[in-house]
Amino acid sequence: MADPKGFMTTPRQDWPRRPVEERVRDWDEVYVPGALLPIITEQADRCMDCGIPFCHEACPLGNLIPEWNDLVSREDWRQAADRLHATNNFPEFTGRLCPAPCEAGCVLAINQPAVTIKNVEVAVAEQAWELGFTPPRPPDRLSGRTVAVIGSGPTGLAAAQQLTRAGHTVAVYEKDDRLGGLMRYGIPEFKMEKHHLERRIEQMRAEGTKFRTSTAVGRDVGAAELRTRYDAVVIATGATAWRELEVPGRELAGVQQAMEYLPLANRVREGDLAVSPMSAAGKHVVIVGGGDTGADCLGTAVREGAASVTQLDIYAQPGGERDEDAEPWPTYPKIYRLSAAHEEAGELRTAPAADADARLFAASTLRFTGDADGRVRSLHLVEVDTARRPVEGTQRTLPAELVLLALGFSGPDRGDGLVEQLGLEMEPRGTVARDAGFATNVPGVFAAGDAARGQSLIVWAIAEGRAVAAAVDRHLTGSSQLPAPIGPYDRPMTV
Ligand SMILES: Cc1cc2nc3c(=O)[nH]c(=O)nc-3n(C[C@H](O)[C@H](O)[C@H](O)COP(=O)(O)OP(=O)(O)OC[C@H]3O[C@@H](n4cnc5c(N)ncnc54)[C@H](O)[C@@H]3O)c2cc1C
Ligand code: SF4
Repeated sequence: MADPKGFMTTPRQDWPRRPVEERVRDWDEVYVPGALLPIITEQADRCMDCGIPFCHEACPLGNLIPEWNDLVSREDWRQAADRLHATNNFPEFTGRLCPAPCEAGCVLAINQPAVTIKNVEVAVAEQAWELGFTPPRPPDRLSGRTVAVIGSGPTGLAAAQQLTRAGHTVAVYEKDDRLGGLMRYGIPEFKMEKHHLERRIEQMRAEGTKFRTSTAVGRDVGAAELRTRYDAVVIATGATAWRELEVPGRELAGVQQAMEYLPLANRVREGDLAVSPMSAAGKHVVIVGGGDTGADCLGTAVREGAASVTQLDIYAQPGGERDEDAEPWPTYPKIYRLSAAHEEAGELRTAPAADADARLFAASTLRFTGDADGRVRSLHLVEVDTARRPVEGTQRTLPAELVLLALGFSGPDRGDGLVEQLGLEMEPRGTVARDAGFATNVPGVFAAGDAARGQSLIVWAIAEGRAVAAAVDRHLTGSSQLPAPIGPYDRPMTV
């Protein structure tokens, strides 16, 4: 801590976002390029080095936050990069995409704005690349053991990097044509530009990890065959089986799943398509679902030039302050948050029917109606109370030419036959069952990430990847020096 009074003298300052009018005209990240580095040293100095850093506990990776805050405040980027990479394979992903439960657990946040931990993380990550502190780290010697990782999302990539660096020969199988999982075709570029992914994948290739894209295990390669060819298999296939909305009119053309819509927009950015066949341009758009996926649809529809965009959230609008009884510090509270996409929608008034930003809270969809050609034209909704009972007299109709369902995911997609071919036991809620050591019921087969945990976050996915790597390494060699930041049953802090 260069300045022990930093938290008293320096106010919190976040990485500024570009003006809304400017950023909705492109797909680049929303932040002002170059504006983070000049402020971040002072921001890191706000860390009190409080002795019992709850931010460690709140971060599933156990990131050594006060240590790197101190190093950043002294501008010792090399050491900061080492400490950061000691616990996190991909800090440039979490530094952009993580909802930062660490900041909710920051001791300063008891009565002041938290340290900008996520901003410090991304600044260190970027400085590490800029200054050449992230060279490939191939293993000194090979173990002669082989591992197949199925899925190249953050879980699969983290597991593969850890196992490769431990000396095992690792091949990642990915059914999509490009690597990255939901970070590739789900999350839009304005949240994370894809060149960050490419850079890491190049590092992994140079370390010796092999990648097999456009290869669905179960369909293009038999899962049981893969099991016999490799000494161990890691299932990191994510949880992309989407939830449905069973209301009249669901079958109308133009009522789509968010994960049908977002990948097409991302493919336009990748240069695969000139225009998305599902583009929101000129259309009245309604997004059903109030989470991250819905917000990503919102930002995408705004950039595509929608005539209007409204987002429906079935929950009541949360308050601006945490409920100290139900969700006391240092837990991650449900409070009203304004994502970049909501800020854009609010400023541009994309949803004339909504009050502040594009969201209508406590809104439940009753049905869709369409035109003679079977295309959706309207969405009919009703306000609901906290028990989701309709409130009388609150029915209303919104114009809707594109409806995007963003209602979450129930578990892994079973379409490829992987589960059946291996004879995997599943949990009643639809995820892959595993024991306390990440092992499934099939010897030598392990499961990690959203496929086993259920729909989660990138920070949990990386933590799962690191932890499953330690379990696989132990299985292959009898012991392991690899870190395991979480167990399979760990969950976010609650009261
Ligand atoms: C639209 C959207 C936005 C999100 N935004 C955020 C965010 O801002 N911040 C955040 O922290 N989290 C976010 N999340 C959640 C986060 O992306 C996931 O929790 C995380 O990606 C899970 O990682 P994973 O590696 O377990 O699975 P995934 O990322 O889903 O990767 C699984 C991979 O396995 C592949 N696969 C599946 N089956 C097979 C098979 N049979 N053979 C070969 N490959 C296969 C898939 O193609 C995929 O590439 C978002 C999720 C969505 C849907
Ligand atoms: S990964 Fe997320 S929780 Fe952990 S330090 Fe970074 S922003 Fe905080």
